[in-house]
Amino acid sequence: MKKKWIAVVAAIVVAAFLIMAVVPMATNMYASAANDISSKKNQLSSLASQKSKIQSELSAIKNDKSKEMAYKDMLEQEISLTEQEIKTLNGLIADYEGQIAEKQAEIDELQIKLENQIAQFKTRVRVMYEDGESSYLEVLLESTSYFAFLTRMEFVTSIMERDNRLIDEMKATSAQLKAAKAELEASLAETESARAEVLEKQRELEEKSAESQAIIDKLANDEAYLKEQYSIAEKEANQVQAEIDRILAEQKKTQAVKEYVGGVFGWPLPGHTTVSSGFGMRFHPTLKVYKLHTGIDIPAPKGTKIVAANAGTVITSTKNGAYGNYVVIDHGGGRTTLYAHMSSRSVSTGQTVTKGQQVGAVGATGYATGNHLHFEIRINGSLVNPMNYFS
Ligand SMILES: [Zn+2]
Repeated sequence: MKKKWIAVVAAIVVAAFLIMAVVPMATNMYASAANDISSKKNQLSSLASQKSKIQSELSAIKNDKSKEMAYKDMLEQEISLTEQEIKTLNGLIADYEGQIAEKQAEIDELQIKLENQIAQFKTRVRVMYEDGESSYLEVLLESTSYFAFLTRMEFVTSIMERDNRLIDEMKATSAQLKAAKAELEASLAETESARAEVLEKQRELEEKSAESQAIIDKLANDEAYLKEQYSIAEKEANQVQAEIDRILAEQKKTQAVKEYVGGVFGWPLPGHTTVSSGFGMRFHPTLKVYKLHTGIDIPAPKGTKIVAANAGTVITSTKNGAYGNYVVIDHGGGRTTLYAHMSSRSVSTGQTVTKGQQVGAVGATGYATGNHLHFEIRINGSLVNPMNYFS
């Protein structure tokens, strides 16, 4: 699943580089704006599909991440439960330890009392047997009568019996205390083993939680990477779209100029209507060869005003060996007019002119035998006979 999207992103990145490398080349090879636009639109749609792929990978990762976060939350809740359990068990253990210490103190105290009691008893017996007056035997022998003897006998026996009984009672109590203590110790051991189990469970949960956190971190990392890739693709798409908009705007502007300005052509040399040489094949007087005469020649004195045959944009205003000083006007719709051999030019390239506006003056610059205007009309680049295009 993760491998798969890494492969997808790698493919997208490679594709993006190829597009970036190939498109400018294509643009240079096919200068036409239409071609440029269609390649840019292809680029745009490939970017859009990249974006949607990245988007779906992103939502898959977001889904994985939120699931993992829910799982980790559950683990954290369990961990806090084990913490509560451990707290409770610690309390119990402290309680048991306190009770055990209490029992031990009671046992110790009783042991001392018992030892005292035994010592006392031993002393009493020794005194009764060994010490003259109060010895057992003397007590018995000194009795003046059988009755007195019996009474004394009973008295001594009862003291001894009492001592014995006390010792027995103490021993019994001590045994009870010891049993109670042993019970407490068993409970303590049980509680301690329960605590060890909970601690182990907590350790395992914490391990799982750390693993889950590592997964969340990795997914967050992937998410950030994909978001970056998405914004790169988006930025690129915006740039391509801007480029398309720019080309379209340019096309619109060019198309506006390209529409024919309308109307018929006016005579370029007012007041001078004689055509000395028409359009077609002729013997060139200067070059001495048969050649296509590309326009019409209208003789006039040097300096006579030459005017634009129609409104348009000056696309050429220059000088060369053949035409001398010449001007070309684009009237849109693929129609252009050319004015050659001028003594001077009065318009410059890029300038718009109105119908009848002066573009230069008659002269004999370039290959010309005398002062005249050489006038051409081209339609979509092909030369035509100008005489067919005047009103
Ligand atoms: Zn000519």
